[in-house]
Amino acid sequence: MKLHGIQKMTLLDFPGVVSCTIFLGGCDFRCPFCHNFELIDGTAQPVMDDDELIAFLKSRKALLDGVAITGGEPCLHPDLPQLMRRIRAEGYKVKLDTNGYHPGRLKAILEEGLADYVAMDIKNSEEKYALTCGMESLDMGKIRESILLLMNGNTDYEFRTTVIHEFHEEEDFRRMGEMIKGAKRYFLQRFTDRESVPYGNLSAPSFDDMHRYAAIASEYVADTQLRGVE
Ligand code: SF4
Repeated sequence: MKLHGIQKMTLLDFPGVVSCTIFLGGCDFRCPFCHNFELIDGTAQPVMDDDELIAFLKSRKALLDGVAITGGEPCLHPDLPQLMRRIRAEGYKVKLDTNGYHPGRLKAILEEGLADYVAMDIKNSEEKYALTCGMESLDMGKIRESILLLMNGNTDYEFRTTVIHEFHEEEDFRRMGEMIKGAKRYFLQRFTDRESVPYGNLSAPSFDDMHRYAAIASEYVADTQLRGVE
């Protein structure tokens, strides 16, 4: 399998685990706020393959404990479970990021115990979900199925929403709260602009708004936390 990027060490991507992060190309969504759009539009070239990753991991056992797999959308890749097996066979914990649109593959991964932690995006309230993903329409049943798989499974997980001033308002956090009511953990991440973000004119909510949204979300998920807010 081709990998389109690697961050060789991070303390931020995998909670409580010193990890590297690998980036897999391709995604079925087109989020206007995507931070990794070069992985989506095909401009990013592969940087290594899975054999080279395993060689890298063999050399880093004293320094790293985990591998965070992100994208793009990793679950698009049929070879993802095999990659996860190979990483685990080297003694590393595995975190998976997903947009939640591939419940079949997610189910297989959870049932085989290939992930130690899963982070799933909750993009917006159902009425605004497709718009927020840059799509004309979406099958929300797939998103709901992935939510239930995580909430009813044994794998540690988080839901997370990147909060954007132009896309989110108070009512959305009530509706998203209903979608994941009783979940283990929910993070609201404040949007940050970058050169690679495909659409200009998007902005971050104020800190006050972020706290207000978190207070609403915490009525549904007790462990609601903020990221990117001082
Ligand atoms: S789901 Fe993630 S990787 Fe895919 S377009 Fe949206 S933000 Fe980018």
